[in-house]
Amino acid sequence: MALTEEIFGINVFNDAVMRQRLPKETYRALHATISNGSLLDPQVASVVANAMKDWALEKGATHYTHWFQPLNSVTAEKHDAFISPLPGGKMIAEFSGKELVRGEADASSLPSGGLRSTFEAWGYTAWDPTSYAFIKDHILCIPTAYCSYGGEALDKKTPLLRSMEALSRQAIRILRLFGRTDAVRVMPSVGPEQEYFLVDQDLFDQRSDLIFTGRTLFGAKAPKGQELGDHFFGTIPSRVQAFMAELNEELWKLGVLAKTEHNETAPAQHEMAPIYTIANVACDHNQLTMEMMKKVARKHHLVCLLHEKPFAGVNGSGKHNNWSMSTDTGYNLLNPGDSPHESAQFLLFLVSVIKAVDDYQDLLRASVASAGNDHRLGGCEAPPAIISIFLGDELTEILDSLEAGKDYSGREKTDMAIGVQALPKIPKDTTDRNRTSPFAFTGNKFEFRSLGSAASISDANVVLNTIVAESLRLFADELEKADDFRQALHELIVREIRAHRRILFNGNNYADEWVQEAARRGLTRLESTVDALPCYTAEKNIALFKTHRVLTAAELRSRRDIGLDSYAKMINIEAETMLMMVRRQILPAVIRYAGDQSASLLKAGEAGFPMPGCSAALGNLCRKIEGLSSATDTLEKVLNGKLTDGDPLPLAAYMHDRVLPAMREVRAAADALETMTDKACWPFPTYDSLLFSV
Ligand code: ADP
Ligand code: MG
Repeated sequence: MALTEEIFGINVFNDAVMRQRLPKETYRALHATISNGSLLDPQVASVVANAMKDWALEKGATHYTHWFQPLNSVTAEKHDAFISPLPGGKMIAEFSGKELVRGEADASSLPSGGLRSTFEAWGYTAWDPTSYAFIKDHILCIPTAYCSYGGEALDKKTPLLRSMEALSRQAIRILRLFGRTDAVRVMPSVGPEQEYFLVDQDLFDQRSDLIFTGRTLFGAKAPKGQELGDHFFGTIPSRVQAFMAELNEELWKLGVLAKTEHNETAPAQHEMAPIYTIANVACDHNQLTMEMMKKVARKHHLVCLLHEKPFAGVNGSGKHNNWSMSTDTGYNLLNPGDSPHESAQFLLFLVSVIKAVDDYQDLLRASVASAGNDHRLGGCEAPPAIISIFLGDELTEILDSLEAGKDYSGREKTDMAIGVQALPKIPKDTTDRNRTSPFAFTGNKFEFRSLGSAASISDANVVLNTIVAESLRLFADELEKADDFRQALHELIVREIRAHRRILFNGNNYADEWVQEAARRGLTRLESTVDALPCYTAEKNIALFKTHRVLTAAELRSRRDIGLDSYAKMINIEAETMLMMVRRQILPAVIRYAGDQSASLLKAGEAGFPMPGCSAALGNLCRKIEGLSSATDTLEKVLNGKLTDGDPLPLAAYMHDRVLPAMREVRAAADALETMTDKACWPFPTYDSLLFSV
């Protein structure tokens, strides 16, 4: 057996293990819960818990944990040993059904956005049996959702599961209209491509900004960046190769379908893409992937940077969220298909996504908003802050001809109803050429490319699932009432294409003209996190999430508040780090350097070798030092001027409007000084070594 086959999933309590270890009845009951969401009987849970414990102990596990994803985009775990005391000072390893299904979590210091006051800090975790338990570092990890006792979602998994239910409910209604009775569930599939940087650990350790903020707050451009395009898909250095090999192995053991690895555009940047899977599992796996990337890098004396923009001047990192929906019978609803019947159904689902993206551009933008991602979106390297859809020429022409009442080859149509003609083949490669689009149709899936590299993919998928569920709900309401289904379907599709044409854009999303064109089209442009996050509580969005029982108004408010609060905190940490680095490292270094220079020049002059050019350069250096000093004072003043308020919005806005510009001034002054200072005197490693040393 190949190594991969041997180790794949060895630390996962997966279907094969369950089949082998559970009594037939129990297995069947659990399987039913997993595949169609039916409720789990407590007795069944007990049997499962016991089998899980035995399996985990055999694998050397000592503890178990309810592994969950609080609102700060990381994962949380609290370990409990499998022990129960016995008389006579002995113990027995125990794990009950109750402990498997539900946990108490006094996690009062995790952010709750006002959903839970500290005096009633207890929340509980509930097992998500659709995502397999696994062993990590001798801990049996049970994927769970995390809620307050009032039932409010305090995590990223609960709304994701709810949104998957919502999507399924509505998509099934549509499938019934097409006479499909085999499928009972529709599930979103997600394949998130993860970008990251690797830097040498010794260099990392010398930079407070990397340590505290995950990105460089200073750094003049290295003479070489990514302009030659020689890094993308280039040969992978052996140290990185060793890291990737170990990462793959660790991920495979956890059942993560790590598949593709390559160098990315920027120097020191790489990417890993797994094979797609059901959305909640993809989300769990992506969290594990990020954790493993960090852990494994350390073993290779490297540090993995997941920040969206660790270095200015070269590309930042994102995640491409490949998304589609398929039935439990394995049929991808975004697959154009071969028959006329399939084509009609495909077009309806396609249009449901187009409508969803147009109607809820603001929510999609909000779902990817963070301090880190703001550095990417809108730069000429990443999708813009404006959301639009790329369909490719073929599909666009098909929609055009439908709207114009022509058939796909441009002939006048005699039979108006769609579904009598199969779609022409849509070659996959032509759908993937436009890499500038934030939301691209790529053959049988959509690729939402605006996600930040450090964030959980949950938020974006919650929004995607819910907004598409809403389009499908409206379509189903209308079509279920129709007397002539085919005629009604045709009219609906044509009407919706017409109504949402403005969101389709096949051109260059990085061009300035697009910004103007998008404004003419009335598309939403939300430049920063501060503009984007308040959209969560817009009336239409509260109504949307309420209709589909995905998030309540209070839960939405908590997400808005936590997002804005972390935004303000992140920038505050960055600004404080800047002040520290300037005052304690950069200024002392450059002042010393200027002193040395002036002493040397003085000596040379006394010896009869005056150097007027160098003296002028020294004068310039000193003025720059003064400039840095005063920019730093300004930053400090601005930072001290911030006010706190009950609502985090004004503070976040202050950080954006006042603090960020002051930080930019400090950086510009410091970076200019870096280029004028003896390399040996510069107090921390510079871009050339950070980006080119591994
Ligand atoms: P790219 O050219 O963007 O690298 P790939 O075909 O390699 O495109 O796919 C990228 C990601 O999309 C992978 O994670 C892959 O598993 C995922 N993917 C492929 N098909 C689907 C699908 N139907 N639904 C969701 N994700 C998919
Ligand atoms: Mg891709």
